[in-house]
Amino acid sequence: MVINNVIILILMDTICYEAYKNLYINITNRCSGNCIFCIRNFADGVHGYDLRLSTKPSIDEVIEALEKQNLSKYEEIVFAGLWEPTLRFEVVLAVTQWLKNRNLKVRLNTN
Ligand code: SF4
Repeated sequence: MVINNVIILILMDTICYEAYKNLYINITNRCSGNCIFCIRNFADGVHGYDLRLSTKPSIDEVIEALEKQNLSKYEEIVFAGLWEPTLRFEVVLAVTQWLKNRNLKVRLNTN
């Protein structure tokens, strides 16, 4: 966007990203662990995606992001992100129900 010759970049949070024929869902930047080898100590994301979130995406925002994808082309839909998805377990449960209603394979990566 350009206003008065000033370029303004509007960065969107990455809620969904592709890797390994799967679609990954990024819902939190928090973790109950503090591993010395954690990727968050060295990078802002994986596979070229910046996974730092400016806000915690709501259930509706996650589903809205999923609705923009061709979900049938993925082998699995995976809760992962950089950190621990179960810290937002209500989102995991609600979105999993939404995905299972569409007969999609769901996986949870957890510590
Ligand atoms: S995301 Fe995984 S590696 Fe990183 S601190 Fe949490 S448990 Fe450890």
